[in-house]
Amino acid sequence: MNFHHRNVKIVATMGPASEDEATLRALIAAGVDVVRLNFSHGTHEQHAAVLRRVREISHRLGKAVAVLQDLQGPKIRVGQLPTEPLSLKADETVILYPEDASPPKEADTKAIPVDFPDLPRVAHPGGRILLDDGHLELHTLTVDKPWVRAKVVLGGELRSHKGINFPGTPLDIPGFTAKDERDLAFGLKQGVDAVAVSFVRSAADVARVRQAIAQMAPERTDLPIIAKLERPEALQNLHEIIHAADGVMVARGDLGVELPPQRVPIAQKEIITMANHHAKLVITATQMLDSMIHAPRPTRAEASDVANAVFDGTDAVMLSGETAVGDYPVEAVKMMDAIVQEAEGHFTQWGHLAEMETSATRDDARSLTRAARELAHERDVAAIAVFTQTGRTAILMSKARPRVPIFAFTPEESTYRRLSMYWGVIPQQVPFANTVETMLRHVEAALRATTPIEPGQQVVVISGFPVGAMRPPNFALLHTVGEAG
Ligand code: PEP
Repeated sequence: MNFHHRNVKIVATMGPASEDEATLRALIAAGVDVVRLNFSHGTHEQHAAVLRRVREISHRLGKAVAVLQDLQGPKIRVGQLPTEPLSLKADETVILYPEDASPPKEADTKAIPVDFPDLPRVAHPGGRILLDDGHLELHTLTVDKPWVRAKVVLGGELRSHKGINFPGTPLDIPGFTAKDERDLAFGLKQGVDAVAVSFVRSAADVARVRQAIAQMAPERTDLPIIAKLERPEALQNLHEIIHAADGVMVARGDLGVELPPQRVPIAQKEIITMANHHAKLVITATQMLDSMIHAPRPTRAEASDVANAVFDGTDAVMLSGETAVGDYPVEAVKMMDAIVQEAEGHFTQWGHLAEMETSATRDDARSLTRAARELAHERDVAAIAVFTQTGRTAILMSKARPRVPIFAFTPEESTYRRLSMYWGVIPQQVPFANTVETMLRHVEAALRATTPIEPGQQVVVISGFPVGAMRPPNFALLHTVGEAG
């Protein structure tokens, strides 16, 4: 197929650098498939305004865009510092304390308030405390409740509300906070297309959010839940989390603070392989084009990182600060698009194709999508067309990783939008088709609108039969364009 088609999808995080109408339109036109609303920042009013803008632009451009709500989760942060920034020097002693407790009395020791009442229980002598994504490091000396005395190992400038990590210390705090609950209720009301859950440790953390959705919005229990993998415990429980969630995110920022950085590439490969094996969505996130926050060109290492995520088999790659607060948000998307397309041109040579699990998901849909891939390759077709209500057939087709684009036709708006997250899928919203002839008319119209069709070109069409009975797919057709009834 000779039109501009990228299989791996691009997720862009919103922020002050991208939320205005013109930039948002330019980002979507440049290739953004998923807009991420980060609920660690911003007000509900701001998020609602961005969501409205995304819907309008998506409608105007005729391009499916999913909105991903990212819940903050139990992130521990520095409280409000009396002076900004607080400069920490190697070897000096500082005192951390819960912001609700009284500050230490020593006037000559730097004090750091923390928004975590359990701090004195969790900190232990000899333990490491990382501040601001690991840019600053402390070692705990003594705990004299409520004050934790620590030595600065890696100094730097500390600002209010920066994140704190206690690597290697299991934290007994609820994964789904009161703020997450309020934010989720808001997201459900606004009609987000998927929700990401931060700091997931086990399948129970995913189940808790699914339960909350069932209570708050029983009609939206199929909302995809994406588990963010950023705690070491999550890697130990990877299998059960992947089973419980609809997708996962390789959240390399926090993961690389909790684990030594050299473990991150291996974790990425394990996560992507297992997610693909179980036909679940996988997003690779954080610092992909980090230097483009302040520069118009990425480093060569970043270009390699994006390409290698493509070869690892990710469904989507994500931009965070690059689009949220960067100086070059649109350039970052264009660069990501270019790197992904170049890598995809070499996917058969270097790409890693994980086979889908062969036992649990052995049903008609899985077998039919695999057969469709073989047929598509054997006959060198222009595309595969999938008719789907819930999106499941399109997801399985995507996970079979065919070498041709997947057009997914659905009358359901929510399915249309959420399918924009999946590898290779071009979502199409069409009125319900209850005859094969109507289906073929939809397929031909979509193909002709996208690419010049050559006489005799074929397309594989899969759907449920009888057509219109809304059953899982059991029907594959090798259609020659122009021969519609
Ligand atoms: C991460 O830690 O990589 C991540 C995606 O989480 P957040 O940006 O929400 O901190």
